[in-house]
Parts: sequence; C-alpha cells; structure tokens
Amino acid sequence: MTLAFADRVRANEAEIVARFTAIFPVKVGQLATELGLKVVRAPLPPKISGLIQPSSDAAAGFEIRVNKYEMPERQRFTVAHEIAHYLLHRDDIGSGVVDSIMYRSNLTSRKETEANRLAADIVMPAHAVSRELDRLGGSRTEEAIEQLASIFRVSVPAMKVRLGVA
Ligand SMILES: [Zn+2]
Repeated sequence: MTLAFADRVRANEAEIVARFTAIFPVKVGQLATELGLKVVRAPLPPKISGLIQPSSDAAAGFEIRVNKYEMPERQRFTVAHEIAHYLLHRDDIGSGVVDSIMYRSNLTSRKETEANRLAADIVMPAHAVSRELDRLGGSRTEEAIEQLASIFRVSVPAMKVRLGVA
C-alpha cells in the first residue's frame, strides 16, 4: 500500500491507516476514532466543509467537525481530509483549521494539496481502485466511474480526479 507522504506519517499511525484502507468502503469515522480523534457531524455554515480543532475530549487532542448538511460521500472525503491534516500538519493546527468547500484554509495551499492527496489515498486507495477498475473491464467509462464511486462511497467528481479523467 502506498500512501502519499508516507515518510512523514508516524509509523504507528501509518499502520492504523493501512489496516483501515485494506477494506472498502473505508470506514473513515472509525479510522479517526482509532487515531484518537473525535468526529462530530455538525451544522456548519454553508461555505464550510469541515474543520479540525483542539479538544480535551479526544485522546489525540483534536476533534474533527464535518458539515452534516453536505452529501455523505462528501462528508467522508472531508473527514479523510481533516485526518490528513492531523497526520501531516498537527503542529500547524493551532487554535483550529477551518476548511472551505474548496478545501482552502489558513494553511498554505501546498498543505491543502497535501491533505487532499493523502485524503484521496485514504478513501480511494490506488491499488484497490485499479483492481476494481480491472474487474469492471478496465475502461474508464462514465458507467465504470459511477460504479467505482459507489463502491468506494465517494462522489463521481472525486473518483474522476483519482483516475485522472477530471
Ligand atoms: Zn484543509
């Protein structure tokens, strides 16, 4: 299993991620819990997809809030994105990182791109996507992409990005 920025993820946490990404659709909420993060589905403002902020209730010291009004597939990606911030950028979280619907925040755009790449590897593990695509005949047809999105419980646009056809 190849994870983006694997060399920057702590070994014990990489092991947990590897265990959860071996079975799909990946249980992102449980993955967060296993990492010691608290996840709350919250009524966030319309232009906010999610955030990660310090929390004394969470073993790892941070909680993720995800906008409960967005599509479940979108919420899954957002949770993975916030997990990625924890794995890669926890020293930069400070009083909190709030992600817009474009996954922009007070962090640099480089860090946002990193979080998106790692999130994609969490919810759409490349090896599993390619194996499932082969099983569907190997062609990146609209129908195959829709089936893959359904198998991995992600949005069709997210799967298109993963497959490089967006
Ligand atoms: Zn972000």
